[in-house]
Parts: sequence; structure tokens; C-alpha cells
Amino acid sequence: MTFPVRDSAPAIELAENPAPRTLPNYINGRWVPAQASAHIDVTNPANGQVLARVPLSGSADLESAVAAASAALPDWRGRAVGERTEFIFALREQFRCRIDELAESITREGGKVLSDARAEITRSIEVLEVACASPMTMQGYVLEGVARGINTETFRQPVGVCAAIVPFNFPAMVPMWFLPFAIVCGNTFILKPSEQVPLTSELICHILEEIGLPRGVVNLVHGAHDVVNAILDSPGIHAVSFVGSVNTAKYIYRRAAEKGKRVQALGGAKNYMVVMPDAAVDKTVSNILGSAFGNAGQRCMAGSILVTVGAARAAIMPRLKQEAQKLVAGDGTDPKSSLGPVISPQSCERIHQAIETGLREGADLLVDGRRPQNVPSGGNFVGPTILDNVKPAMRAARDEIFGPVLSVMHVNSLDEAIALVNSDLRGNGTSIFTEDGAAVREYSRRVEVGMVGVNIGVAASPAYFPFSGWKDSFFGDLHVHGRDAVEFFTRKKTVTSRYFSSGTSGRFFTEQGDKH
Ligand code: NAD
Repeated sequence: MTFPVRDSAPAIELAENPAPRTLPNYINGRWVPAQASAHIDVTNPANGQVLARVPLSGSADLESAVAAASAALPDWRGRAVGERTEFIFALREQFRCRIDELAESITREGGKVLSDARAEITRSIEVLEVACASPMTMQGYVLEGVARGINTETFRQPVGVCAAIVPFNFPAMVPMWFLPFAIVCGNTFILKPSEQVPLTSELICHILEEIGLPRGVVNLVHGAHDVVNAILDSPGIHAVSFVGSVNTAKYIYRRAAEKGKRVQALGGAKNYMVVMPDAAVDKTVSNILGSAFGNAGQRCMAGSILVTVGAARAAIMPRLKQEAQKLVAGDGTDPKSSLGPVISPQSCERIHQAIETGLREGADLLVDGRRPQNVPSGGNFVGPTILDNVKPAMRAARDEIFGPVLSVMHVNSLDEAIALVNSDLRGNGTSIFTEDGAAVREYSRRVEVGMVGVNIGVAASPAYFPFSGWKDSFFGDLHVHGRDAVEFFTRKKTVTSRYFSSGTSGRFFTEQGDKH
């Protein structure tokens, strides 16, 4: 099979847009205007420039996508698994060749620095590569002779039409957590991108069109709450994947499950980083900074609370302050920027309020990022901020701030640190910094958290392992990527068989049986 490949001009015009266009949906292989008339602006968070208008699609738009995905299903699931996998190979190749174009799109609409955006594409490529293993990973199992002359085999079939509802902070990677696995397993797919960053999803659909993915296999429907509700209620959708904040995740899980759908809903986080007295200071500090302030703190795996244990406080804190003050907020396209803007003026305002609340409740301002210098005008910038001496009851310890704000707490023992971590309602990721294997073992065993890093600031699982938190950070059973992805996007069917006419089977087993 050959795929037409384009490696020159971008599929969509993202740059200097005098009259922002209204984005079309991508349904049944065609770019069609949404039937809904309402729209909202998509802006560049670094300068407030309007990049496009995103339509707030409703149930009529969604049902067109469901009809397309349902119609495409019989042919798509009937194709050989190797043929479906070839499209994932082609998509992977396009991601590799067009990494700059994809990264620029992410930075333009999402704000993160280009190096983070490129890393996001690298992560997406990793997921695509794992999905390419589907001829192996989709295999079932068989047992010969469950009774005389009878075999039983379990194989996997697609679930049907699957949908994903995704957040703003990883415009390419989070859609790629689901899309490749869903379609390679023989499902058809509907993507509802974040209304704040819809352009990268549009670019990905252009790429799918270019590699010749059959019509209706992947559909893109823009919008916000209305189209999400339509997804949750549509009888034509069989599985829903969601990533976003805790309250939305709970809502999605409840409503979709009530409608009998398979659901995986990943929620928000408050991730603790615990530093033991023997931690390697330089490396620990640089990991803490990368975790807390990378992507301007807008990562579900961002370390947002630092807990020093005993003498770690004196060892770490002066260095942490010194290094944090060197970080520079600025436009994500500027190589001198350590962190870009946050996603919206509303986020910026919320983060400022969280800092003020922290101070009012008694925290100390160790590093003040409230007024970053020399940032572009019109952008949503907050500099790295460290609140010290935060107490468990303070909002700075409880709320997911989702910005470049690190709250610091101090305890005297590993037991106290573990109790703090486990007191949180969420349990997405956590890190411990130490060279002490016994402490690591104790910590990893006892924390009620889905992903644990040892001397790693962002312990996001590689694509060949499951990714997800526990408690309020996750609602469902099967996690994202790894083996769980194939489990989520397939249903197991078990066939038990014998053949009276074959002659061989009955006699073979009789003879075998006679021997014993
Ligand atoms: P969000 O919950 O506001 O939005 C996520 C998606 O849900 C969007 O597509 C949005 O249109 C839709 N949505 C939002 N509110 C809705 C409602 N009331 N009804 C129906 N649909 C609704 O999240 P966000 O601000 O885009 O993303 C940031 C959040 O996502 C943070 O809490 C972050 O921790 C979380 N997140 C979690 C993970 C994870 O793996 N656990 C990964 C990335 C982001």
C-alpha cells in the first residue's frame, strides 16, 4: 500500500490571519460547516491574537458524525488488521516528518515552549508505534480440548463507534492516546477537541485525509458542553474516553455509564514531590523545577506540592529559590523562554487569585511570579511562583491551581509525607527523591497514587505501559495506552467449537483419550 505524502506547505493556514475563519467539522471525509451558529474565538495565549473561530456544534452535528462513523464501521472492521496498521505506520511517519509544523501549531494555540511542544509530538509518535504492534497485542487465546473434541478460543472484536473528549493542555498527545488504538482495533472514531486548542486536531485530521484513511473512520466535531452531552447520550456511540478536570470527569463517567457505554475518564491532579534528606541536590532541584513549571504548570503530572523531609529542607530550599528565579516566562516561540503563557486570561486571573489566597491564609512568598518582566503584551503570563510553609488546610494545598505555582510543605518523617500524599482526594502522579532503596520501596508500596517517579519529576508512563491515576484522578477500569488500550477498545468473544463431520477431531481425541 502506498500513501500520498506531503511535506511542504502546512495543510491549514495558521499564521497572520487577518479575518479569522470559522473552523469546519470533519465528517465522513469532508470538511463541513457546523450546523450550530454560535462560536467562540481561539486565541494565541502569548499575545491574544485571534487565530480562528470554533463552532459550538450541537447534537445535529454530532449525529452526522455518528452516522458517518457507523456507516464506515463494517468495511473498516472487516479489513485485515495488518491493513489497518499500515495507516498507523503512515500517520507515525507523517508525525515524524512534520514534527516542526505540529509543534508550531501546539505552541501557537496552547502557548507551551517549542521544546515542550516537540516533546509532545515525540510522545505521540511513541503511542503510534505501540499501536502498530496491534497484530500481536490484539491476539486472543485458545485452549485445545476443553472437553473431548472441543476447543475454546477467545478473540477480540472492536467495540463499535468510540469518542474522545480531550483537554487543552496536550493538543496532540491526548487525542493520540486514543485515536490510534481505537482505529487500529477496528473501531471508528469521533474526536471532540478542546474548544481552546482545536487547530492541532484539525491539522491531524488533514494528515489523516492525506494518508488516505477511508471516509468516516475518524471524524472531528468541534464544540463544548452541548456536543459533549450529545456524545454522552447518543445511542450510536459505544465507548467514551475523557481527559480533563475532576468534576467534568465525574460527570462524564456517570452520564455515559448510565447510557450503557464503556467509559474511561481521567481527571485532574495535585501531585506531591517528596524529597528525602539524602537526595542528590542539583538533580533533584532541576527535576522539581521542570515538573512544577514546565508547560507553565499546566500538566496533569505537574508536581504542584513539594514536601521536604527533615534535613532536606535546608539542603534544597536555598538552591530551589535561586534556580527558580532564573526561569524566564515569555513567548513559547522564543528559545530564551523557560515557560510560556497560561491558556487564557481567565486561567491567569484564577492563578493570581490562588496566589493571593495562599498569602492571605499564611503562606510565605518565596518566589514571586505575579508580575513577570518583558513579556509580550496581550499574553496570559504568570512567572514561576513558590509558596513556602503551606499547611494542609490551605487552598494552596487543596486546589489544583494548574499554573506555575509550587506549594512547599515541611515534615519530619517519611510516614508523615506518605500520610500527606494519601490525604489528597486525587492520586495521579507522585515523585520521591532519594538514593535510599528502602525508602523508595516503602513509598511506592504505600502511596495511593497511579504513577510513581523515583528521582523523576514527571513520571508519565511510556506508551507501552498504562497511564492513569487513582481515586478522583480516574474513573473507570482500563487505563490509557499500554495493554489496557487494546482491552478498552476491544470486546472479547469466546467461541467453543466441535465438528461432527470432520472425522479427525472426534477420532483423534478418542484415540488420545483411549491411551489414558
Ligand atoms: P476541562 O474539564 O475544563 O475540559 C475538558 C473537556 O471537557 C473539554 O473538551 C471541554 O469542552 C469539556 N467540558 C468541560 N466542562 C464540561 C461540562 N461541564 N460539560 C461537558 N463538557 C465539558 O479541562 P481542561 O481545562 O481543558 O484541562 C485541564 C484539566 O485536565 C486539568 O484538571 C488537568 O489536570 C486535567 N488533565 C488530566 C490528565 C490526566 O491524565 N489525568 C491529562 C491532561 C489534563
